[in-house]
Amino acid sequence: MYADVIVDIVNSEVDKVFEYSFNLEDGIQPGSRVSVPFGNKFIEGIVINIKHTASFNSDRIKPINKVLDDKPVLTSETLALMQLICNKYYANKAQVLRLFLPSEMRKGRVKESFTSIAYLSSDNNVIEVISSLKSSAKKQREILEFLRFNSESDLTYLNKNFGASAVNSLIKKGVINVKKVKNYREPYTQVTAKEKRIELTNSQNDAIDSFFNTDKPVTLLFGVTGSGKTEVYLSLIDKTVNEGKTAIMLVPEISLTPQMFGQLKSRFGSSVAILHSGLSAGERFDEWWRLRNGEAKIAVGARSAIFAPVENLGLIIIDEEHDGSYQSESAPRYSTIEVAKMRAKYSNAKIIIGSATPSIESYLKAQEGEYNLIEMPERINKKPLPEVLIADMRKEIRRGNNSFLSSLLKEELDACLAKGNQAIIFLNRRGYSKTVICTECGHVFKCDSCDVSLTYHREDDSLLCHYCGQKYKMVNACTECGSTRLQYGGVGTERVVDEIRKLFPLARVLRMDRDTTQTKEGHYKILSEFSERKADILVGTQMIAKGHDFPAVTLVGILDADSSLYFSDYRSLERTFQLITQVAGRSGRAGDTGKVVLQTYQPDNATLRQALRYDYKGFFTQEISLRKATAFPPFTQIARVLISGEDEQKTLEKTREVYNQLNVIYLSNKEKFKFFGTMKAPLKKLQNKYRYQVLMRITSDGENLLDNIFEISNSLKGKDVNVVLEVNPNNLN
Ligand code: ADP
Ligand code: ZN
Ligand code: ZN
Repeated sequence: MYADVIVDIVNSEVDKVFEYSFNLEDGIQPGSRVSVPFGNKFIEGIVINIKHTASFNSDRIKPINKVLDDKPVLTSETLALMQLICNKYYANKAQVLRLFLPSEMRKGRVKESFTSIAYLSSDNNVIEVISSLKSSAKKQREILEFLRFNSESDLTYLNKNFGASAVNSLIKKGVINVKKVKNYREPYTQVTAKEKRIELTNSQNDAIDSFFNTDKPVTLLFGVTGSGKTEVYLSLIDKTVNEGKTAIMLVPEISLTPQMFGQLKSRFGSSVAILHSGLSAGERFDEWWRLRNGEAKIAVGARSAIFAPVENLGLIIIDEEHDGSYQSESAPRYSTIEVAKMRAKYSNAKIIIGSATPSIESYLKAQEGEYNLIEMPERINKKPLPEVLIADMRKEIRRGNNSFLSSLLKEELDACLAKGNQAIIFLNRRGYSKTVICTECGHVFKCDSCDVSLTYHREDDSLLCHYCGQKYKMVNACTECGSTRLQYGGVGTERVVDEIRKLFPLARVLRMDRDTTQTKEGHYKILSEFSERKADILVGTQMIAKGHDFPAVTLVGILDADSSLYFSDYRSLERTFQLITQVAGRSGRAGDTGKVVLQTYQPDNATLRQALRYDYKGFFTQEISLRKATAFPPFTQIARVLISGEDEQKTLEKTREVYNQLNVIYLSNKEKFKFFGTMKAPLKKLQNKYRYQVLMRITSDGENLLDNIFEISNSLKGKDVNVVLEVNPNNLN
């Protein structure tokens, strides 16, 4: 027999299928992970197909070395999905395969773990054996008595309590036997959400009915924050699993997962498996196998959980569907919702995507009837949405308040703490200050490798590049003129915490951003401390914006509501609206009515006004007509070919080459382009690489041109200069 194998090497030269031979009794099947000879060594690969005849001279075909697991790691469904993804996204096969496997499986870095269990052999009568033992064999007698009452026991426990020699002689005599039991390393065993038996509201029941009754493959659940979407998801999962099918639930950030996981676990027990990068390698490996073996039926996790190895899939949930993390921004680039649609189509599963602020694209699809639309416009128990107060920062400055906290926010914080409630302060920038500037010569400290200013981090007195991660020691004097008059520009979370501690010395303050959540389950620790009310104020970045349900929070402060309005990105208004609504939604979810203080320099901005009235539909109507008038997505697709290299001259030459070839397509299809041009990328240099781009906006009639554009950019990819096509990327830096 012969097998088509994809080898685990990411390199365009080996991005093809290799043939190997094997014997039927080896147990090799499509989807098996195997070790194969390659060049002069052995490497891992995946069998994607088996056949009776080879496609070339079979004498030269080498045999597969060995199979690496008990059963195939890919199923017929995930194999098919893998091929679809390779085709749709022009992606490298080995890279796509890696999406489907836990990374620790590769190169055998993690093994399965087993426990040895001792039990009484049924061949002997225990009572007889005990009475036949010599009187000196006191320990052996004790072991047998112990096992008579406990039927089985962990072998290590017996060895420790009765001594290994006594245990071993009983094993030798065949009086007790030992079996190996697979041992699952389960994450979050300390998570214990109280099982709340909840009577569903009418709107929740309607949502569930609508989901099961529609013929449309995708349902959009548009429900305000606190409208009870999670409970709807849980009911859908319940019904799906009861019908013998499996479910995948995606959440945008791992910080969200512990809370959601607690709820799922208390309801579905060990049927739930969690897949995310915050677990230990062993846990991730075991959770993956529990799904593959069918012991777990519900996969929960961030984006990559869409590749979970479940069979008989019935339901895919994408919570907070508007979130940017559902777009993969590095190779292989893919859109999670598109992959979900491919997967659902193959398995005949249904998809529900949910949000309080749907993406413009999804809501348009719902309006046009492509998606089934469910609305839940009210909070559970009719709790009012929090009142939003505007703090006009221009007036604050005029009044002589130079602090980045408005007097309104200070007053509200005071009142909130006085009542014994909790507050959340949101600022989308970590570190102490955004920039460090020399007031003498105007020099701004920048990264050596990137064209961006460095952020000061006070915790370790360093300057950090937020783009490449490079760290520099903080200096006392300007590197250009030697002046010591350095000034911190812009505010980060560290500085906010500092200021709040000064203003409210008795308040207990926690900070949650990427710097404070590096450790395993770091998110979980901060969130549970806050929810156990061990702190009064939580300061954080967008990590705290979503999903969390803290009943005692009655005040949310948004420090730089308008910062994202200035981005050149066509989605900046959409993002601003979403962020404000999400953050505001953390306030007043139970108990006292919530308040939100929104600090801005543009109090009359239309998007901010819509956000503070929770007027999604008003925002949508305005935004969609703007997108239409300016020919931006979803009315066009943005295609960017990014050219980057360390040698600026070579990069520039390559850019010309790319431009010239694409220009041929452009000139013969002008009516399908809304824009075609080449320029420096907004981020001119990143990690020592100069960046140029050819930017295009293509109408829906021109979608087939993307194939040609991809072929051109792929063929011009070189050793020194990289050429990458991005379609509707999250950011156009
Ligand atoms: P969303 O995900 O829409 O923001 P949640 O699902 O977090 O909202 O629900 C908000 C709160 O309402 C949670 O505390 C949840 O436990 C509670 N809740 C949800 N459904 C019900 C119900 N039917 N009856 C009572 N409380 C509910
Ligand atoms: Zn200077
Ligand atoms: Zn850098």
